[in-house]
Amino acid sequence: VYLRQTPSGRWLEVRTHVLEDGGYVRTFADVTEHITLQEALRENEARWRSLTHLSSDWYWEQDAEFRFVRFDGRGDHRLGMNDDDIFGKCRWELPHAGVSQAQWAAHRAQLAAHEVFHDFEMQRTHTNGTVQWVAISGEPMFDAQGCFCGYRGVARDITERKRAEGQIQRLAFYDELTGLPNRRLLHDRIEQIARLGVREGTQGALLLLDLDNFKTINDSLGHEWGDRLLEQVGSRLSACVRASDTVARWGGDEFVVVLQGLPLDTAQAAAVAEAVAYKVLQLLGQPHRLAGRSVHSTPSIGITLFQDCDVGVAQLLQRADMAMYQAKQRGRNTWCFFDAGMQAAAQARSALEADLRVALQQRQCLLHFQRIVDAQGRTLGVEALVRWQHPQRGMVSPAEFIAVAEQSGLIVALGQQVLELACAQLAQWAHHPVCAQWSVSVNVSARQFRQSDFVHQVLATLQVTGARAQLLTLELTESLVPDNVEDAIDKMHQLRTKGVRFSVDDFGTGYSSLAYLTRLPLHQLKIDQSFVRNLGVRPSDDVIVQTIIGMGRNLDLEVLAEGVETEAQKALLIAHGCDLYQGYLLAHPMPVADFERMLNSGAA
Ligand code: C2E
Ligand code: MG
Ligand code: MG
Repeated sequence: VYLRQTPSGRWLEVRTHVLEDGGYVRTFADVTEHITLQEALRENEARWRSLTHLSSDWYWEQDAEFRFVRFDGRGDHRLGMNDDDIFGKCRWELPHAGVSQAQWAAHRAQLAAHEVFHDFEMQRTHTNGTVQWVAISGEPMFDAQGCFCGYRGVARDITERKRAEGQIQRLAFYDELTGLPNRRLLHDRIEQIARLGVREGTQGALLLLDLDNFKTINDSLGHEWGDRLLEQVGSRLSACVRASDTVARWGGDEFVVVLQGLPLDTAQAAAVAEAVAYKVLQLLGQPHRLAGRSVHSTPSIGITLFQDCDVGVAQLLQRADMAMYQAKQRGRNTWCFFDAGMQAAAQARSALEADLRVALQQRQCLLHFQRIVDAQGRTLGVEALVRWQHPQRGMVSPAEFIAVAEQSGLIVALGQQVLELACAQLAQWAHHPVCAQWSVSVNVSARQFRQSDFVHQVLATLQVTGARAQLLTLELTESLVPDNVEDAIDKMHQLRTKGVRFSVDDFGTGYSSLAYLTRLPLHQLKIDQSFVRNLGVRPSDDVIVQTIIGMGRNLDLEVLAEGVETEAQKALLIAHGCDLYQGYLLAHPMPVADFERMLNSGAA
């Protein structure tokens, strides 16, 4: 059998049949159509091959169960695996990433519905660990009878594109030099923090920093070193703040720090912002090592607080900017608040703090004592309340300076002095027939109680003064415990075994959980004044007071009502069965001298 082409170009299949007598018969069949078809097929196949080989895309086919049966093309679609590892597996059975459960579900639903899909993006992991992003498109295949027999399609490596997208994102929102958020992202963050503040009842602070002598450094060392300095400033700033706060580069040598979650109270929020500003000055004030030299650079900081963004971000930044210029005028390397009131408050507070430091050194603080009586009016003890006789201001109320002492940490030293004074008084009264059995209640702040040597301090003070531990009551507030319940229980037990008693001050204002309250070795609950004040006025407070008294009885705790000012309040409390009473109705806090006078006149 052979093929022959006629001069007219047609193809003939020539078959020769040998006959028995040695002769033969030749048949000619015109197979032109068949040959052209085959030719076309071959050409198609060749075209297809060069297409897949020249393209970076690759071709794939799956059977009716979506299992891979074919791969063609140059792209590194095998990811270090053999055909055997891939064939027979579905797309989701091969190593992948970057696709959520929901996205897989949607993709599989599309396949099940035999739909065409475009640019399904997923990450595939190469056996060598590298990750590749691919975009896949596919269409269903049907046989001659119209039955679904699988999928075929193409896939493309889009790793580069994804990388570029990430880069663009970074360039759009982050500063190239320091890697910190840029103006644009800062803008968003401020708005976000303001919204959060409105929702959670907090406020934010914006600190704008400008380096004082950057231009000089930049000019003398060169831009390269100027850039290094900015980088170092950026990383030092990031170290100053909590992870939830934002440090951004505003441009040039200006940086912005945004603090979030500050208390709504202006003075308290300003104190936090100030503490951060102080830390920034300390950290940035450390010399930088640049070009083999030790270079000093200090910032000037403008601060403004914000509760919402009603004035707009631009306005907020302008305020901080104005404050920053003021800081420059004050001699640089310092901070300034935008708001005059805030600034005044900040200055008054730091002046008070400085004075308090001196007061502690010179032991200017003294105690007043307020009597605590039972229903019959007999005095059972006193509460020690600290008083500060300021050389210029006169008597400063604890409401004013306790907060400053807490914020500055001076409360620990102050608390210790109070404890010493109270114990000394106890020891002195021990010899007096009237007050030998009086107990003395001492307020202990959370920070003081959390000191690791608190138990030791109390026991040592008792020992040095010779006071009886059984007559010392320590008043803790509810908020103090939840931080570290085990530690609190441990400390209280150690002191309790020596005879020291514990009282919960301002009870009802915190968020005590009864669960832990019952675990503490407590002796007394002090109903907060705010409930006592409204007795007989606000029915709900009547209920609260009754409940606390009932609870105290059930837990075997003594209940004391503070802030008793009227006979009506006292009568109601007696009716409810309250154990002890403290308040202006019964006695005001008094200096010791007044007690002595009273005792000597026999009035007690
Ligand atoms: P606190 O422990 O709840 O003390 C009771 C406060 O109520 C005292 O105010 C007292 O003078 C006042 N008070 C007493 N009776 C009445 C009354 O009938 N009506 C009214 N309106 N008030 C009454 P003070 O002395 O100004 O102390 C305020 C807070 O300062 C104390 O509240 C306590 O939390 C804190 N504090 C006082 N001394 C110390 C201390 O030595 N250490 C610590 N950490 N905190 C102290
Ligand atoms: Mg108290
Ligand atoms: Mg109280």
